[in-house]
Amino acid sequence: AGGFTPEAARADVPALHRTVNGHPLVWLDNAATTQKPRQVIEMLGTYYSAANSNIHRGAHTMAREATEAYEAGRAAVADFLGAPSPDSVVFVRGTTEAVNLVAQSWGRAHVGPGDDILVPVLEHHSDIVPWQQLAAERRARVVPVPLTPEGTIDQDTFADLLSYRTQLVAISHASNVLGTISPVREMTALAHRYGAKVLVDGAQAVAHLPVDVTELDADFYAFSGHKIFGPTGIGALYAKPEVLETMRPWQGGGNMIEDVTFARTAFAPVPHRFEAGTGHIGGVVGLLSALNWLSGFDREAVAAYETALTEYAHQALGTVPGLELIGPAAQKVGVLTFTLAGCTPEETAAWLDNDGIAVRAGHHCAQPALRHYNLESATRASLALYNTKEDLDQLTTSLLRLQDQQPTA
Ligand code: PMP
Repeated sequence: AGGFTPEAARADVPALHRTVNGHPLVWLDNAATTQKPRQVIEMLGTYYSAANSNIHRGAHTMAREATEAYEAGRAAVADFLGAPSPDSVVFVRGTTEAVNLVAQSWGRAHVGPGDDILVPVLEHHSDIVPWQQLAAERRARVVPVPLTPEGTIDQDTFADLLSYRTQLVAISHASNVLGTISPVREMTALAHRYGAKVLVDGAQAVAHLPVDVTELDADFYAFSGHKIFGPTGIGALYAKPEVLETMRPWQGGGNMIEDVTFARTAFAPVPHRFEAGTGHIGGVVGLLSALNWLSGFDREAVAAYETALTEYAHQALGTVPGLELIGPAAQKVGVLTFTLAGCTPEETAAWLDNDGIAVRAGHHCAQPALRHYNLESATRASLALYNTKEDLDQLTTSLLRLQDQQPTA
């Protein structure tokens, strides 16, 4: 990996150079999705122009090339996550599908009446609802792990809630509402003492922090390609080989079988038995390109830059009267969720959009987390490696102008 400058990253991303409503775009909606480097865009073009084929079947040159590209993508994901082997990586549509796969395959086999699934209040709906559906079916309980008043996962209560009834703990590595990085390694070690498995939702972490699933000792780790500069509709689930090996397929169809008769069907080995049907081959190729792009930068330098930029964002937004940031200021990735006195989050976002600044307003698919702050909606600005201090200055200036419009109390 080379060095890192935000300018170099920016120069690679065409969308960052467009204008919106007559202003140069300021993209601060990275927690919703990231913009794509031209390397990814060009790779998709190349794939569909020159190498498009279905994979794993058909003994012709392009099928072989597509298969090789698809499996190279799997190896790259394994490498990127510090996974022991490519066979521990399953391609899915994204984090949501990864969680549903674990709930329906591993969960149905291991979660039974009276069992607990521990889920911090911080979680995204995609790391809550599939567990509720599983618990309803299996007559188990989803037990919320509360937050401290400061907004971190209450570790004492977590320790108290763990028991031999706990089958699974589902934790996000970084929160999409507060940006806070959870102590996943420590929580995993504690959960393992009770024999519980741990699923880590890495959707908001992978673009910002170097991740090593082996070091975290996670049983499952999920992420979405579109949040890491890759295409939508592709993501990955890592599972520990010894866990994945025991899991039954959750969807049936082509590509996931070894042999089919009406008497008996034998499934393909892992990970293929979890990839029924024609997958998003182009998406995998694009994801591979995105991981290569990101890995071309010094990841430690990227993380250090983003931490400094997040601190700068806290200071800059702190100068806006009536603006209240929610959540802890430390130990976080660049997610800044706030309210502004006198303006709804929707009005705030619309005002900013007028100035070419993209942020998100709403509940951010994490209603329990927002309700911890007695909020139904908030405005969120979220950063990536290609954002700069100038982006945050523009955000602050626009918000100050908005506040100037407000009738003073
Ligand atoms: N978990 C977290 C923490 C997220 O931020 C998101 C996306 N906002 C998801 C899960 C769901 O990801 P996807 O919609 O790509 O499946």
